[in-house]
Amino acid sequence: MLTLSITENQMADGFAAPNAFKGEFTPEIEAQTAPIWEKVKHHVTPMEWRVQAPLIVEINRLKREKNAAILAHNYMTPDIFHGVGDFVGDSLALAKEAAKSDAQIIVQAGVHFMAETSKVLSPQKKILIPDLKAGCSLASSITGADVRLIKQRYPGVPVVTYVNTTADVKAETDICCTSANAVQVVEWAAKEWGTDKVILIPDEFLARNVARQTDVKIIAWAGHCEVHKRFTAQDIADMRAAWPGAEVLAHPECPAEILEAADFAGSTAAMNDYVAAKKPAQVVLITECSMASNVQAESPATQFIGPCNMCPHMKRITLQNIYDALVHEQYEVTVDAEVLDRARLAVQRMIDLPPPAVPARYDLVKAKHHVDVELI
Ligand code: SF4
Repeated sequence: MLTLSITENQMADGFAAPNAFKGEFTPEIEAQTAPIWEKVKHHVTPMEWRVQAPLIVEINRLKREKNAAILAHNYMTPDIFHGVGDFVGDSLALAKEAAKSDAQIIVQAGVHFMAETSKVLSPQKKILIPDLKAGCSLASSITGADVRLIKQRYPGVPVVTYVNTTADVKAETDICCTSANAVQVVEWAAKEWGTDKVILIPDEFLARNVARQTDVKIIAWAGHCEVHKRFTAQDIADMRAAWPGAEVLAHPECPAEILEAADFAGSTAAMNDYVAAKKPAQVVLITECSMASNVQAESPATQFIGPCNMCPHMKRITLQNIYDALVHEQYEVTVDAEVLDRARLAVQRMIDLPPPAVPARYDLVKAKHHVDVELI
């Protein structure tokens, strides 16, 4: 018979590292972390909290000691998002906050391209990522060398790049975009370059969804987010059959058939705003799982229903490796100075555009005829 001896630290996140932080769950720590517990209690067990609460208190102490700030992406688990995040949101919003902050050390609770974007906007700061393997299927679908070849093939056509890309790719780009402003940026680029077509890379689904909202012809790349690609229209049909009153919100990195079946589709920020403003009784968020957990804390009256998909890259970030990152100031993300300057130009061009009058509503694609894109 196999006998296992498991400590609380190990129970918290599978098998703990030998140097896992061990702090006591004292009455003082329980009282100090009570407001955070209120936000996470539907997603964290009391047993897990006994391990997480002392770690949260220690991470927050280290931040003050080292003048550090933590950027927590919407897809972080609730213990990170609500417990130690100084700034929370999508990747661009986080990078902009990092640039405004006085903190000299920035810990990116997110994936590697996000840390690079923070470095691009805050070159003088030390940017740390708790796990160097926190990558992204979409960002790794394309390289700077690919973009140089694309530009040779389509001379004079502007290159618009989604922010979910490496600094190397951004450096080859004319202007960046987010899912909230992609239509506006594509139309701006076409006008500025005096052309009727624009290269929009690397997310094929975002490019196809944008193509249905503009007269500009779109040249696209076959990169995908492995999390949003997995959803099917059948998932939504099943949810609607089981929960007829639920409102379905989807992310534009999903295939068009998902957006056509949704009640609303927009960026993570747009989904968040939708739930906060409309307060639906039941909602389905077609995106990464932690998004629903984190939004739920601010909208307790709304019932969040599955399905969702987990991002294995985002889930590499844990309280323990955030703690290690702060203690050892590891792992520093650097970007070559020349790449950094050119990448900043592409990001800054987008930031300098006035925000869209209304954020893109990708569910409106169902009202439009299918428009094909030229896939490279
Ligand atoms: S959710 Fe998708 S786009 Fe975001 S990091 Fe994971 S794989 Fe990349």
